[in-house]
Formats: sequence, C-alpha cells, structure tokens
Amino acid sequence: MKSLQENAAVTENPYLLLTPGPLTTTRSVKEAMMKDWCTWDEEYNRLVASIRKRLVQLAAPTAADAYTAVLMQGSGTFSVEATIGTVLPKQGGKLVIAVNGAYGERIVQIAKVLGIPVAVVRFDERSPIDPELFEQALMSDPLITHAAIVHCETTTGILNPLPEIAEVIKRRNVTFIVDAMSSFGGVELNMHELGIDYLISSSNKCIQGVPGFGFVVARREAIAACKGHARSLSLDLYDQWDMMERSNSKWRYTSPTHVVRAFDQALKELELEGGIAARQERYSSNQRVLTQGMEEAGFPALLPLEWQSPIITAFRYPSAEFSFETFYASLKKEGFVLYPGKLTSEPTFRIGSIGDVQPSDMARLVAVIKNIQSSVHKE
Ligand SMILES: *Cc1c(COP(=O)(O)O)cnc(C)c1O
Repeated sequence: MKSLQENAAVTENPYLLLTPGPLTTTRSVKEAMMKDWCTWDEEYNRLVASIRKRLVQLAAPTAADAYTAVLMQGSGTFSVEATIGTVLPKQGGKLVIAVNGAYGERIVQIAKVLGIPVAVVRFDERSPIDPELFEQALMSDPLITHAAIVHCETTTGILNPLPEIAEVIKRRNVTFIVDAMSSFGGVELNMHELGIDYLISSSNKCIQGVPGFGFVVARREAIAACKGHARSLSLDLYDQWDMMERSNSKWRYTSPTHVVRAFDQALKELELEGGIAARQERYSSNQRVLTQGMEEAGFPALLPLEWQSPIITAFRYPSAEFSFETFYASLKKEGFVLYPGKLTSEPTFRIGSIGDVQPSDMARLVAVIKNIQSSVHKE
C-alpha cells in the first residue's frame, strides 16, 4: 500500500486565482510548507524575528528603528480588529473613519461591536476619499483622537490619495491607522514620510504568501503606550507585540508555522523580483493588459484610470442579460477564477492583477473572454 506521504506530491493548480487573496502563489512558496515545522524552538523564533525586521524595512525604510512589527494569527480582519481594539484607549478615545467601500464599513462595524465611539465620513464608493471633506470632519469634532482609512479599497480597486490624506492627519495631530491590506507590497509607500502610526496587512495579499496571519507595522512609541487597552485576550495587539519583543519573537498561542515558512519564502521572492517598485510595475502591466483587453471585449472598467489601483479592477456588467454565474463557470473551466462584485450601487465583478501572475496570463484571459463573448453574441 502507498503511504500517505507518497501520495502527497505537490500538484499544480487547476486554475489561476485572480482574486485579491488568497491568490496564485509560486510553487516554491507552496513547497516551503511540505515539512512539519516545529513552532517553539530557537530556529523558528529567529525566522519570525527576521520576518518582522524585513516587514519594517519594507514599510519604513528610512526610519526602521522607530518602527516595529507584530504578527497576529487569523485572516486580515483579525489584525484590523486587534489594532482598533488595542490602540484606542478604554476611555476618552474616538475614531473617525473615512469610508468609500465595504472594507471601510468593516472598520466601522468593528469599532461599534467593541463599543468604541466613532464618527463616519462616507463617500460614494465610485470616488476616492476627499481629503478636504475629511479634514472638515476632523476639525468639527475635537473629541477625535484616531483616524482610519483603507488605502486600496478592494471593493472597487480604488486607490485612495494617501499622501494628501496624510497631510490632513499630520495637521490635526491624531493617531493614523491605515488598512493597507491589499496594497502593501504592491504599491510603494513609506510610513515614516506619511506619518502613519499603524499599517495593517496580511500574509495572502501582495507579499504573495498563503492565508493564515495578519501583521501590523507600528510606530514603536505609539504601540508601547497601549498596554491594558485591549477589549479581547487573543486579539490583544500590545500583548502579542510585548511577548514578541521580550521573548525572541515568540507568538502567544499556536502560530501558523507552515504559513510563516511560506511567507518567509514569499519575502525572499519579493526581494528577488526587485522589491516593491518592481512588483508594482508588474501588477500595473497586468492591470493595463487586462483593462485594454476587457474594454475591447465590451467590459468597460468601473473607474477612471487615474483612480485605479494596480491591485484589482471592477468591471460593469455589459448588459442587463449578463449572467455572472455562467461567465464565471466558463472561465473556471478554462483555468481562471474571478471575483464577484461587492459594490452596492450597481452590478460589477472584479479581476485581481496580483499574485504570481504575468501580463501574458492576462493576455490569455482576455483572449478566452473575447471567445466566450463572441459565442454568446452568435446565439
Ligand atoms: C482582504 C482585505 C481585508 C481582510 O480581509 P480578510 O478576509 O479578513 O483577510 C481587509 N481590508 C482590505 C482592504 C482587504 O482587501
């Protein structure tokens, strides 16, 4: 009889994931998980320490000493919740959130569940956050101590104007939290220059790892002042950080060992690719090939090019008769998995351009879509 090990060869994926996390990873990232890695020893802790250091270097390259990184079990939302629930003081804090999509709404929901006072400034999902209107909201409420925004709103793929918003926040002297979940690693930014206090992302987005943990890069002085704030035991970001700082990067509770190994490999591959700038180039090329081809196939992009991120693109349905379910199923058979829409105002679907995906993959996708479209029109 064959042993279980013999059967467990790494198989190639049956399709490309064009979803913004989980996404298509390289074979070498998947292979990093093919051992039963232990979780508590010196070697593992050194690996975690190195990952934390590299994350800080990516997020704040010009002032790495002033920043620190903490990893947290769970999907990205767990890290957002850990951050909101830990950095706002138990008394006297108020969070303002600029919202132009579902992930901004999620931060509002988290704060409400945790009983944290919130002010919400809403914008149309199809337009970026307006820094001036956001500043007016900040000025009109002196109780506000913290501000949160989503950098790339994955709902539409819009890239919010981070430098302009950062200027507003700097003038008002509030703590600045950025959900950079879907942009970090794929869009260049510098926390130090932007005055960001907390930046949140996760293992399965632009670093191109597999799902299993999130991470927060924090200004060291800011997180050091958050002891005892948390509204949760397991999502206490301060406690998790403090344990990592004091015990050679040890996690509290079981860590996703295999995911961490895969992430280490993914970070090496980011460096080999030429860093964030090179990755942003590739994602942008993917996005260009995709939108040009889709336009030709009769699918206009939802957003004007100037607001569009290189991460994910939302497309309008070409007609009222369009069935996304049928379209999705045909493309899956051809080896491409897309993402349904999340917009509330009109029907859309989305295609991610991140992960181990090349412009040639996008060209293949577009060719298949044109084929499907012409067969639909003939009927
Ligand atoms: C993916 C994502 C999250 C986290 O989602 P999870 O499903 O919890 O990983 C949060 N914010 C944004 C902008 C995202 O793209």
